[in-house]
Amino acid sequence: MTDRQARDLPLDAHLHTDLSPDSDVPIDDYAAAALERGIAELAITDHVDFEPGAPAFEYASFADRERVVREAAERWAPRGVTIRFGVELTYDRSWESDIRDHLARHAYDFTIGSVHDRVESVYHPSRVRGWVAGRSLAEIVEPAFTEVEAAARSGLFDALGHLDVVKRYLHPHVTTADLAGAPELYEPILRALVESGTALEINTSGLRHAVAETYPAAPIVARFHQLGGRAVTIGSDAHRRDHFGWALADGYDEAAAAGFEALSFRRGGGRVSVPMPVAIGPGPNGPDGHSL
Ligand SMILES: [Zn+2]
Ligand SMILES: [Zn+2]
Repeated sequence: MTDRQARDLPLDAHLHTDLSPDSDVPIDDYAAAALERGIAELAITDHVDFEPGAPAFEYASFADRERVVREAAERWAPRGVTIRFGVELTYDRSWESDIRDHLARHAYDFTIGSVHDRVESVYHPSRVRGWVAGRSLAEIVEPAFTEVEAAARSGLFDALGHLDVVKRYLHPHVTTADLAGAPELYEPILRALVESGTALEINTSGLRHAVAETYPAAPIVARFHQLGGRAVTIGSDAHRRDHFGWALADGYDEAAAAGFEALSFRRGGGRVSVPMPVAIGPGPNGPDGHSL
C-alpha cells in the first residue's frame, strides 16, 4: 500500500477517537502521529447524535469529552502539537432545535455539522438499489441534499462535513461521473454555505473509499470558490490510527488549485486563517507529488 499519510501540514480538522462509537483510537495515538509527521494542529471531532438509538446518542458525555481533549491538549502543547476540542454533530432538520440547544449550552472550539445515513434511510445497503431504479439523479440525491442544504443554511456549524458522502452509499449504482455531470445539484448547497459563512470541508476519507475522490470532489471545491466561498477546512475523518492524515495533502492540493490561499473558518466564535503550507502551490501537484 502506498503511504499516503500526510507530512508537514498545518491542520487535520476532522478526527475520531475512542470517544466515538465507531473508533478505538486513544487521543494520544493521533497526537504522537502528528508529532512524528509534522502535522501541527488537530481538531478532535467525536460524534454526537440526537436521535435516540443512534450510535453516538449519549455515548460519551460532554464533560468526559471535554476533559479528555483538554487534558491531552495540555500534555501535547509543549511538544508542539495543538489539539482543539471539536465535535461532529449529526444534522437533520427534525432535531435542529436540539442541536441549537446543545450548542447554546456547550462551548466547543470547532463544530462540524454532517448528514449521516439513518437506519431507515433510502440509501441503506438493503434499499439503495430499489431506490435508484427508475429515478432521476436529482430525485436520487434529493433526500440527502435537502438535509445537507438545510445544515449549510442553518448557520449552526463552523464547517459542513463530507458534503456528498451520499455518493459512498450510492456507489456503484450512481457513479462519481454521474454526479460530476450534474454540478447544478450542488449549487444550492454551495450558495447556502457562502451565505451563512459556513466552511466547506474537503474530506479526504473518500480517497480511501471505493469512490476514490474527496467529499466533495475537486470541481465542486473550485465552484465554491468561484461563488465567493472563502471558508474552507480539510480533514481526514480518521477513525483508525493508520487513517490519520490519510491523503490530506490531496485536500490541500485541491484547495490551492481552487484558489484558496488559506484555510479559513470560525473557531470559538472568532474567525481564524491557517495559511497554506509553502510546499503547496497553486499548481496541480502537492508536496509529495499527488496530482489532482
Ligand atoms: Zn461524518
Ligand atoms: Zn467524521
